[in-house]
This record gives sequence, C-alpha cells and structure tokens, in this order.
Amino acid sequence: MIDFLFPNYCIFCNKESKEVLCFECWKKFKTYSLRNQNTKRCKKCFHPLKQNQCLFCSSRYLYFDHLIALYEYNSFTKSLLLDWKYSNNNIVYRIFLKDILKIIKEYKPDRIGYITSSKFGKNYRSYDVLETLVKKIHKTTGIPCGKDIKKIKSNKQSQGKQNERFFNILFSFGLTVKLNVINKYLLIEDTITTGATVNEVARILKQEGIKEVLILSIFMEDIEEESLWNQ
Ligand SMILES: [Zn+2]
Ligand SMILES: [Zn+2]
Repeated sequence: MIDFLFPNYCIFCNKESKEVLCFECWKKFKTYSLRNQNTKRCKKCFHPLKQNQCLFCSSRYLYFDHLIALYEYNSFTKSLLLDWKYSNNNIVYRIFLKDILKIIKEYKPDRIGYITSSKFGKNYRSYDVLETLVKKIHKTTGIPCGKDIKKIKSNKQSQGKQNERFFNILFSFGLTVKLNVINKYLLIEDTITTGATVNEVARILKQEGIKEVLILSIFMEDIEEESLWNQ
C-alpha cells in the first residue's frame, strides 16, 4: 500500500524517484505545457490560430463557452496516457493534479463531470480513467462531481468520411443524471483532438439549462487544418 501511494520509481523511465515522474522526466514533461508555448491559440476553443483566425470556431456553432488544454499530445505524453488508460496505472493522474486544481480555482465551477466510456466492447477501456482523478478533485475542493455523461451509441471515430463522422457524434451522448440549477459546469476530458465530441456534450448540457459550460482537457493534439474545417 505504501509503495502504491509513494512510488519508488519514475513511471516513465523506471529510475528511482519519490515522485510519480523523476526530475528529468518532469523537466521534459513541463515543456509539453500548451500554455507555456508561444503558439497563438484561440481564446475560446484553444486551437492554434491561423493568421489570427480560428478555423474551428468560424466553421461551426460552439456550445461550450471556453476550452483549455494542459499538455501537448505527442509520443511522450501518449505513452503516459496509454499507461494510465490501459495498464490501469492509477497514479498517473497525480502528474496533472496540481495544474488541474489551479484551473478549477480560477473557474470556480458548480459541478464537475466527465464522460464515462466503460462497457463499450473489447476495444474500449474497461474502466474510467478519469474516475480517480475526479474523486480526488472532489475530495480536495468539495465541488460536486460525477460520471454525468455516457455514450449511448458506440461509434468509431476513425471510420467513415469526415462529414459522416460529424453526424456520428451528433446524438451519441446522453446524461446519466438530472442536472439542474447549475450555472457553471466543468467537463473534464483526457484528450481532445478536434473538440467535436465535447461540443456535442456541451450542446446536451446547455439543453439541460446549464448556463456556462467549460471544458478542461488534459491533453490536446494539434491537428491538420483541414480536419478543423470538416469535423
Ligand atoms: Zn523518469
Ligand atoms: Zn476557436
């Protein structure tokens, strides 16, 4: 139990370390912070701007009010994420916890929720990686938290043409709880590529009467311009 709570080895390089990541890996990890990079990003959806214009925002209606992502999704962070998701390495979240709590302090949401992805066949992860993280946030902040959104239709995003994918996302999520009288809702995601999924979830949340929907993603992948227009 003690070993689990205080790992003796860096989860990435296996070197002896009291922290989840050793100092060297932590230094490396910090460089992936999207907020410290020089790239100009959209204040609303966080995608990189192209000649001061946001292709994502200008090609659709956005239901969420604000999106922020913490770290770049690349080969290093991807391996961390895979370790977290598929090896059930439940201490990984501690790497991001401090940064997440900082944002929650700024936002002051009334409720925090996430999309549950369990029970969707062999190709999906069999447990919710965000569960431990969200429980920890609740314990620290006292803000009500829950597994509020579930996938009601399994869709594989990698299949189909891009405009078909958009329709796949539409109406494929539902709420697991009755949410009312909430002004500020914070949705936590582990990874965002286009933001089309969270936009659809935000639409459902707004339909429930929630006034403000904020999205916090741990990782974000910067994708091709073309995908921003089409998804
Ligand atoms: Zn290390
Ligand atoms: Zn934008």
